[in-house]
Amino acid sequence: MDPRRRVPRTDVVLADPRLVKAMERLGHATVKDAVLAAQQRVRQGEIEPEDVADEALTALPRHATSLRPVINMTGVLLHTNLGRAALSPAAIEAMAVAAGPTDVEFDLATGARSRRGRGALDALARAVPAAGDVHVVNNNAAALVLAATALASGREIVISRGELVEIGDGFRIPDLLVSTGARLREVGMTNRTTLADYRAAVGPETGFVLKVHPSNFRIEGFTGSAGVEELAGLGVPVVADIGSGLLEREPSLPDEPDATTMLEAGAHLVTASGDKLLGGPQAGLMLGRHDIVERCRRHPLARALRVGKVTLAALEASVRGPATPVHQALRADVTALCARAEALAATLAEAGADARAVRAEATVGGGAAPGVCLPSAAVSLPERLAVPLREGDPPVVGRVEGGRLLLDLRAVPPEQDEEVARAVLAAVGG
Ligand SMILES: *Cc1c(COP(=O)(O)O)cnc(C)c1O
Repeated sequence: MDPRRRVPRTDVVLADPRLVKAMERLGHATVKDAVLAAQQRVRQGEIEPEDVADEALTALPRHATSLRPVINMTGVLLHTNLGRAALSPAAIEAMAVAAGPTDVEFDLATGARSRRGRGALDALARAVPAAGDVHVVNNNAAALVLAATALASGREIVISRGELVEIGDGFRIPDLLVSTGARLREVGMTNRTTLADYRAAVGPETGFVLKVHPSNFRIEGFTGSAGVEELAGLGVPVVADIGSGLLEREPSLPDEPDATTMLEAGAHLVTASGDKLLGGPQAGLMLGRHDIVERCRRHPLARALRVGKVTLAALEASVRGPATPVHQALRADVTALCARAEALAATLAEAGADARAVRAEATVGGGAAPGVCLPSAAVSLPERLAVPLREGDPPVVGRVEGGRLLLDLRAVPPEQDEEVARAVLAAVGG
């Protein structure tokens, strides 16, 4: 008999109570797609007609998002393609709290509208007392666009030629700034820009002087640049784009700029990312003098760049809460990392895998601390396991080096080691 005649009807399969239940979680279209795929397998003779519902159930995604949680063993702590900072449990809980109706912009005492996201703003203000005021937008690129629009549209932004930076995926900070209607006044040379260069360029047309932290590269040799402290004396606002989002000095990264130091040095406004070294959600932080932040906050564009309640909740928890996963990874003790790598490799070798513990070098990544190597430890495996591990459940992403696949432990919390072992054993077996 023609197998097409024996394919159960879609509406009949969709009435299966288990699939009805799945629809409540995953939506009608997702479940229907799984049923259609299962029917196709019947037509191809791969499964029996009575197994369509079972097959659809097993093929259903676990969650309503197609994003998969990944174990980041690349040795790059802030991997942009893997979503940069992993959020803390406190931030994840805060997002769930904010998910429903919430008083994000409402005063429960008076029943009137209130300052949006005051919890996150207060937490930032408390963490950076040197900031007179704080504003939060969608990301650091948005913070730069807002500052350029509100403070320098139709006027000039004075910037060193050594700081005309591409931030990745073809996006360049100069293009971003010019797109606002501000003009760039480039000063100095790629390797050296002096205070005199800035002074000669500053005038009535100046909106602000911009210092951009060259966060993803390093120039060495005959170099020099004027610091924020010197620039602050020029009589025009100084905006410092620090990038990584450290609020104060981080002992493990002595060369990485932080908001507090920049403001104390005289910067009028600091912009930074929330999902780099701050270890929070994607956000753009604007910290600085009250009148300058207020001009940005009051500009119509600010409304287009504002962040949602879920982001505000995660940001507040990341700033107030316990050490974030990023900080834990940054400060992880290399001896402890080596011990974990040894234990993992021993478990895997016992099961017959070609696994050994090796020393490795991790990096911060995500546009922070270029050239800084963090001593780390990894499990070294045959390179051919890279693909099955990426396609496994959960996917594990390592890095290939010298013909071996290295699974670097620095960005992985210790409680995930068992999950890693299971994933590797599945990849070896499969
Ligand atoms: C990362 C970075 C940006 C862009 O920040 P996003 O939050 O990704 O928009 C801008 N400037 C510097 C110096 C950076 O490091």
